[in-house]
Amino acid sequence: MDISDVLTRLRTFADARDWQQFHTPRNLTLALVGEVGELAELVQWRTDDDVLALARTEAGREALADERADVFTYLVELADTLGIDLDRAVHAKIDKNAVKYPVELARGSNAKYTELGTP
Ligand SMILES: [Mg+2]
Repeated sequence: MDISDVLTRLRTFADARDWQQFHTPRNLTLALVGEVGELAELVQWRTDDDVLALARTEAGREALADERADVFTYLVELADTLGIDLDRAVHAKIDKNAVKYPVELARGSNAKYTELGTP
């Protein structure tokens, strides 16, 4: 997926509806949180097996995909509003995480990086 293509479509969509005026950092952050809540609602009170079973149904898979897309949409729009290159930011964060979680210390561990010790 090319994030710039998604961003172009989102800008066109919002411009046609004169919605850019509402796309402030605060509004987009709150919208993002709301969509994360909608995604969480689909899995709350269910076991992991229940969620996997839900994802195997057509309606469940569509609902899960829709909410993930909503989360991603607002994340892309928020980054755009803040002038953040999301593609670059994601790669930079993966690089940072690779330093924080060296393979020799983190492999097979669910410990936070502060608890991993030193190589
Ligand atoms: Mg939604």
